[in-house]
Amino acid sequence: MKKAIFITGTDTGVGKTVVSFVLATLLKQIGIDVGIFKPVQCAGNDASFLKNRLNLDDPLNIINPIYLKHALSPATALRLEKKVFDKRKILKCFKELQKKHDVLIVEGAGGLLVPLKDNYFIKDLILELNLPTIIVARLGLGTINHTLLTVNLAKESGINVLGVILNQDTPGIRNLAQHSNPGVIKKLNCTPLLGILPHLAKIDTAHINRIKQNIDIEKILKDEAAPKNNWQEKDKRYIWHPFTQMKDWNEEEQLVIEEGKGNFLKATNGRWYLDGVSSLWVNVHGHRKPQLDEAIIRQLKKISHSTMLGLSNIPAIELAEKLVDIAPQNLSKVFYSDNGSTAVEIAIKICYQYWQNIGTINKKKFVHLDNSYHGDSIGAVSVGGIDLFHKVYHPLLFKTFSAPSPYCYRCSLEKSYPSCKLACLKKLEDLLEKHNKKIAALIIEPIVQAASGIIVWPKGALARIRKLCSRYDCLLIVDEVATGFGRTGKMFACEHEDVRPDILCVAKSISAGYLPLAATLTTEKIYNAFLAPYAQMKTFFHGHTYTGNALACAVSLANLDLFEKEKTIENLKPKIALLKKQLQTFKILKHVGDIRQLGLMVGVELVKDKFKKTPYAWEEKIGIKVCNRLREKGIILRPLGNVIVLMPPLAISRGELEFLIKNTFEAIKQITESGL
Ligand SMILES: *Cc1c(COP(=O)(O)O)cnc(C)c1O
Repeated sequence: MKKAIFITGTDTGVGKTVVSFVLATLLKQIGIDVGIFKPVQCAGNDASFLKNRLNLDDPLNIINPIYLKHALSPATALRLEKKVFDKRKILKCFKELQKKHDVLIVEGAGGLLVPLKDNYFIKDLILELNLPTIIVARLGLGTINHTLLTVNLAKESGINVLGVILNQDTPGIRNLAQHSNPGVIKKLNCTPLLGILPHLAKIDTAHINRIKQNIDIEKILKDEAAPKNNWQEKDKRYIWHPFTQMKDWNEEEQLVIEEGKGNFLKATNGRWYLDGVSSLWVNVHGHRKPQLDEAIIRQLKKISHSTMLGLSNIPAIELAEKLVDIAPQNLSKVFYSDNGSTAVEIAIKICYQYWQNIGTINKKKFVHLDNSYHGDSIGAVSVGGIDLFHKVYHPLLFKTFSAPSPYCYRCSLEKSYPSCKLACLKKLEDLLEKHNKKIAALIIEPIVQAASGIIVWPKGALARIRKLCSRYDCLLIVDEVATGFGRTGKMFACEHEDVRPDILCVAKSISAGYLPLAATLTTEKIYNAFLAPYAQMKTFFHGHTYTGNALACAVSLANLDLFEKEKTIENLKPKIALLKKQLQTFKILKHVGDIRQLGLMVGVELVKDKFKKTPYAWEEKIGIKVCNRLREKGIILRPLGNVIVLMPPLAISRGELEFLIKNTFEAIKQITESGL
């Protein structure tokens, strides 16, 4: 048995030390080796009292690493005594004591919101130490309010509250308040009452023995010793994962994530991993970003969801205004849905119906590019160009035109940029010229074709495509589901070439990686084509149940707010430059064929033979092997076939980025060159 329990209070002087002593004594009586840890103490002698009375042989400066002379909050006392808050020392002493004792009782200072330094409170220390917590409250008038405030805050902060112990800190028989407190607290509180401690005339073993039955020591230990679920086994029993060969999944070791913080994810194996692909291209400002968490909580306290069919809601309205404001000019209407595929379905149906509504009824066909990916629903797959994903479903799909995409590394014309003058787009031009009477729209991923391996187009291609669409009266759907919201170094990839789409699809990072949300933006012209007398049935008959979800829109608004306040895009510049510079070194690796980057989107294409550009066979799983190696180093990546993808949260720090690049380089080298 190895455990630690944190003892906090509703206030200072409520009896944390008495409770710690009583608990330690009771535990010792049943043969458990108990240690005491008092990370911070301001004046007084709690730590030495506990050390002496419990006969602990740990040195006092380990039991209590930070001692301050002044009876003030630790942050204030530290400042006054010209000291800094040494968290490393606290963590070190904690580990040492925890290793030594079966049960370690950690006594806080004051209550949960006592500052240890700026913006770091007792509650943060509890979370960092990840300890189940007992709240000590004074028995008497005023305790209901203080107890409930503390329990609520603890729970909202994510602290595992074991329960409350009420302590009678004045002698004499109990007054009315002291009598009624326990009942009221039991009723109002969703937390167990672990005990009521009568006033102890003397704090010694004899007195403690007399009140033994008042403390539910078994519950304290039992709750604490709750068996760890075998999440991995249960996952394998119940879950079918996306884009996953479940046979392999079930045979191999898997990670189950239980927590996130900043750019890291914590798995149930206790290890932290760098989130190198932003939880599949969605996370922006890191995990558990306070402003985003708070935006959801604020909205939660108003309403989580109401329908957009026949009603509207405030966050959806505010977000639509904001999206129109930041999107490429001339997009003025927002149609919500909840994922990238639906955003694309909506774009396709709007384009189709647009031409029908305005009477140009022959324009029914769609054009997409090779290597395109627009989602997994049937309509989105119809305009997809990745055979590996899309071939099986071919008989289910509607017929489309496809044209080559600019993929310079494997140029089908065997030309090179810029002397090619984008000759690969000639086929698209011919197609539009020949069939434009039949074509409703062209759908593209602007500049970066992400899912097919972060294929980055040469300069000018996007702008050329826009021109062709205008010339041949073909609507241009730009799918920025992956590229939108800063990934490429600009808010939208379209901005790199000042392109204005007729329809814009956004999802993924729109909600900073917090909740499912998507939007399809259109021009006023398209929108107007759907305005007509009711009887004409020009209505856009489409909608998803969770369209415009208030929680998702609220967090999206907070996301965009952070982009402004933290100058997210501007701050990307040095990181993009660093990435670019360090990626150059990958060129020397024997099996790195191509390195593609735009902003924080990176694809490193591995090849069997660098000179012939021979791809690795699918079954060699080369990308998977490299990523598995990186996992051992504490980094989570997900490859796209033979392409290693780096797509860290925009909030990644310089140091984290260097860690990611260095380890990726080494993993590629080890796996491809020595096969280790
Ligand atoms: C991810 C993606 C989609 C699909 O989005 P989902 O939310 O997974 O349905 C569509 N288009 C592009 C470009 C994407 O990267």
